[in-house]
Amino acid sequence: PASAELEALQHADVARMLPVPAAESDKYRRGVVGIAAGSARYPGAAVLAVAGALRGGAGAVRYVGPAGQAVIARFPETLVSDGGPKHAGRVQSWVVGPGAGDDAATVAEVLAAEVPVLIDADGLRLAEASAVRARRAPTVMTPHAGEAAALLGVEREEVEGGRLAAVRELAGRYGATVLLKGSTTLIASAGGAAVRVNPTGTSWLATAGSGDVLSGLAGSLLAAGLPAVDAASAAAYLHGLAGRFAADGAPAGAHDVAEEIAGAWRSVVRA
Ligand code: AMP
Ligand code: MG
Repeated sequence: PASAELEALQHADVARMLPVPAAESDKYRRGVVGIAAGSARYPGAAVLAVAGALRGGAGAVRYVGPAGQAVIARFPETLVSDGGPKHAGRVQSWVVGPGAGDDAATVAEVLAAEVPVLIDADGLRLAEASAVRARRAPTVMTPHAGEAAALLGVEREEVEGGRLAAVRELAGRYGATVLLKGSTTLIASAGGAAVRVNPTGTSWLATAGSGDVLSGLAGSLLAAGLPAVDAASAAAYLHGLAGRFAADGAPAGAHDVAEEIAGAWRSVVRA
C-alpha cells in the first residue's frame, strides 16, 4: 500500500495485549523463551536479554551460549543448556543476536526453528535474508537506525531522515515484523501495511545494554503467545515506561530498566 496506516499505541491497547496466566496454567503453557545471545567478549548482553525475558511473562527462560555461568550467577531460575539451540529442548520462541559476536551457525540454527524468532544486534548482521524470508513462523527484527541502514545498504542519515519508509521497506523485504528503535520507536507489521508508534520512550534509554533488555522482553511475550506485532508493540511500550521509572530524575543503567519492567507492567494493567 502507498500510505501506511499509522497508529499510536495507547495504554488500554497494551493492557489488553499482556498475558495473564490461566488458573490451570503451568510453566510450559505460559511459554518457554530461548535466548541465544552473549559471547566471551560480551557476556553482559546475555545477562541483560535474560533479565528482560524473565520479566516478560514466559513460564521459563532457556539460555544457550558461552555466557551460561554469568547468566546463572545473576538469574538462578534460568535453564542453562550446553550445546546449540537444536539441543536446548522445547521453546515457544527464540531471541538471537545480542552480543553474539560472529556465531553465524547459531543464528542459522535458530532461523530454522519453527517457532517465532526475534533477531537483534549481531544477529541482524549474521542472518541470511533468504533464511529469514523462508521462515513460516513469525520473525521480529529489532534494529536501531545504524543496523537498519546496514540491512538496507544505505547511510544511517537516510534512515534517520525517513524512518517510516525505512521500517516499512524492511518489513516488506524480510516479511518480518520490524521494530525500528530510536527516539520514537516504530513497529511495522510483517509486510509493512500497518505501522505503530510507541509514545513511551525516553532518551534516558540511550544507554548500553538497553536494547538487549528490550529483545528479551519481546521474546518472552512471543513465547507467551502474543502475535508478533503485539509482542513487539507491548515490549516497546513497557520498555519505554520502565526507562522512565528507572531514570526518575537521575540516569539509570540497562539493568535498572529491566528491574522496572514489573512496575511498568503494573502501571499498565492497573490504569
Ligand atoms: P540499542 O541501540 O540496541 O542499545 O537500543 C537502545 C534502546 O534505547 C532502544 O529501545 C531505543 O528505542 C531506546 N532509545 C535510544 N535512544 C533513544 C532516544 N533518544 N529516545 C528514546 N528512546 C531511545
Ligand atoms: Mg542493540
